[in-house]
Amino acid sequence: MSIAHNLGFPRIGLKRELKKALESFWKGGINEDALLATARELRQRHWHLQQEAGMDLIPVGDFSFYDHMLDMTALLGAVPARYGFSGEMVDLETYFAMARGSQTQPAMEMTKWFDTNYHYIVPEFTADMRFRLSGKAIFEVVDEAKTLGIRPKPVLVGPITYLWLGKEKRAVQDGGEATHAAGCCTGASRAADAGFSRLELLKHVLPVYAELLARLKAQGVEWVQLDEPALVLDLPPEWLAAVNTAYQALATADAPQILLTTYFESVADQADSLKCLPVAGLHLDLRRAPDQLDAFLRDYPADKVLSLGVVDGRNIWRTDLDAALALLGKARDDLGERLWIAPSCSLIHCPVDLAQERALDPELRSWMAFAVQKLEELNILKTALNAGPEAVRAQLAESRAALESRRHSPRIHNPAVSARVAALQPADAQRNQPFPQRRAAQRQRFKLPALPTTTIGSFPQTREIRQARLNFKKGEIDAAEYESIMRQEIVHAVREQERLGLDVLVHGEAERNDMVEYFGEQLRGFAFTQAGWVQSYGSRYVKPPVIFGDVSRPRPMTLDWTLHAQSLTEKPMKGMLTGPVTILQWSFVRDDQPRRDTATQIACAIRDEVTDLARAGIGIIQIDEPALREGLPLKARDWDAYLAWATRAFRIAASGVDDDVQIHTHMCYAEFNDILPAIASMDADVITIETSRSAMELLDAFGVFEYPNEIGPGVYDIHSPRVPGVEEMVRLLEKAATVIPADRLWVNPDCGLKTRSWEEVGPALANMLAATQQVRARL
Ligand code: GLN
Ligand code: ZN
Repeated sequence: MSIAHNLGFPRIGLKRELKKALESFWKGGINEDALLATARELRQRHWHLQQEAGMDLIPVGDFSFYDHMLDMTALLGAVPARYGFSGEMVDLETYFAMARGSQTQPAMEMTKWFDTNYHYIVPEFTADMRFRLSGKAIFEVVDEAKTLGIRPKPVLVGPITYLWLGKEKRAVQDGGEATHAAGCCTGASRAADAGFSRLELLKHVLPVYAELLARLKAQGVEWVQLDEPALVLDLPPEWLAAVNTAYQALATADAPQILLTTYFESVADQADSLKCLPVAGLHLDLRRAPDQLDAFLRDYPADKVLSLGVVDGRNIWRTDLDAALALLGKARDDLGERLWIAPSCSLIHCPVDLAQERALDPELRSWMAFAVQKLEELNILKTALNAGPEAVRAQLAESRAALESRRHSPRIHNPAVSARVAALQPADAQRNQPFPQRRAAQRQRFKLPALPTTTIGSFPQTREIRQARLNFKKGEIDAAEYESIMRQEIVHAVREQERLGLDVLVHGEAERNDMVEYFGEQLRGFAFTQAGWVQSYGSRYVKPPVIFGDVSRPRPMTLDWTLHAQSLTEKPMKGMLTGPVTILQWSFVRDDQPRRDTATQIACAIRDEVTDLARAGIGIIQIDEPALREGLPLKARDWDAYLAWATRAFRIAASGVDDDVQIHTHMCYAEFNDILPAIASMDADVITIETSRSAMELLDAFGVFEYPNEIGPGVYDIHSPRVPGVEEMVRLLEKAATVIPADRLWVNPDCGLKTRSWEEVGPALANMLAATQQVRARL
């Protein structure tokens, strides 16, 4: 009999119980016991649910109060010295201090987990770091599960992935540690800087893993899941060699059987060495990389199980069960009972349960599957494998019918959209004239001063704005009243900017709850769930829109607001749009066509908005692409193809206008060094970027590469409530001017100001303008 198992279940709770408990605990509303009780309640509910869904092995230890990488840090006792932890076991206070910062120490850095929108806490390693088993939660949950009759499979981040995802820090004498601004240098230079490679810590961390595994075995654990998604990356040879070292050391008679799990990409390149590891099983993601199966089936060792991830853990779509069965059938012939089936990866990247979505259109809903439904699908597949497809004929037929309706639904397929995309010509992805000519036309039109000043788009989302939106959504105020409140906010934002003396104004984005939802709500082909939450980081969850069909724009989306704003001032009003790649990246996307095609459709819709704005006299238009970099594929060999379509999508959106229309783009948090030529190829007239936190270090790359167009390197860190001083911004500007010729420089904050208050924004922008005056005077 083949078994079905799960790799991880969403922790957040059907009704976001974990968020509520955590945030209440942090505010002092509930005590630790109450928080622990909620956690236990959720864990047990999820175990039972998975057991009832036919899972033969249930993941435990996948539950986390904040993040599973941080759990490993706690378990291994890898607490950075700056938190002053000296106890036996890492307590919740230390744990949350690492996650969120304490009175005296900032939080540990956080970054994206592979190509997902989940963020993990980055381990901080020093050369002298030693590890020690410092947590007991994993052992407690094993006992807890066993008492309830659950067959537990503990889940841990494997040692290679754990070390790979961390960062070297130099330990300094005074007890603090030298840290680097996030994203300012590559892994290699960081290691060189710190004087050691974190791989040297492997020999210290392995004994702790071994001890951990031995204790689990003593508790009667049969299988343990070691997640090694880092193996799908382009790892340096010494890291690949270390995989062997690590698993030779861990997969011994003292440990439970090890299932080594990979996901998010292919590990076909390492098939031969992985097959030789002494572990008892491997897991492959066949949704992302179905082609890797053959490399593994060839001479697959007779003593190992092969777990195949055939249900997609990264989206909200139903599985094509017939296709999955065809794939599994092939493996079944070779492997017999050693074939296991599973979701492609942990289900933490899916919302919990579709049954909650009562407002969703029934047809659309019939195409979808959330975590609970994905497990049901696995169960159907398992029965089909073990008892024959006849045993689940009705379920297979129902699934087939849903898929069939999705394949042909007129709600998905809009011939006008496909015809338009097919008819795109190279000229549609190119401005009429090269930048120098456009620049002359734009100078003529706008006559901006040297070092023009602007902001990134949003102004504070005040309590009044959020309250008005809430009242509107609840039906307590009508559309006219809501609109009039937003229009008043725009008046306020424009008056403030005029008072401050900015050169290029924005309307302030009062009417937008977020950068993607606002557009998704107005575009065809998008749907919204009521409770499709997924964890982004800690207690922060997001509810991504669902792109289910061909995308088009029935009517202008931002024109009225922008024209209203422009009517209030003589200064140029900058139109403000979200770019195609960012909209794609922050949504659940279709799996029935390549991402590239969906991005191109969105690009055409944004292009319509850009041309409407331009035709109405809006001469400066910003198309934000903060997510361009995070869309980079995991394997470098796929980068060029991605960058080619992603930058083309931007150019399609931007190129429907005359030379004298100035297109801006904005990116934040980006590590640009390796993709600068691609960014230049977007050919925006002006790019604004985040630089103030790294003291303009990022600009080195822009200088070396000689970025050809205009640049606004952020001079003010909007992430902090601190009001930056004039002198400090003068210094940053002068530093920028040493790299970028002053006649191509703009002055602006790092990012939008929506999270700040007017009390902070007013003085900060006043200082920014004063700094600009000083530097202008010296030009
Ligand atoms: N225009 C957006 C804003 O100002 C940009 C936000 C972003 O880059 N994430 O809020
Ligand atoms: Zn930004």
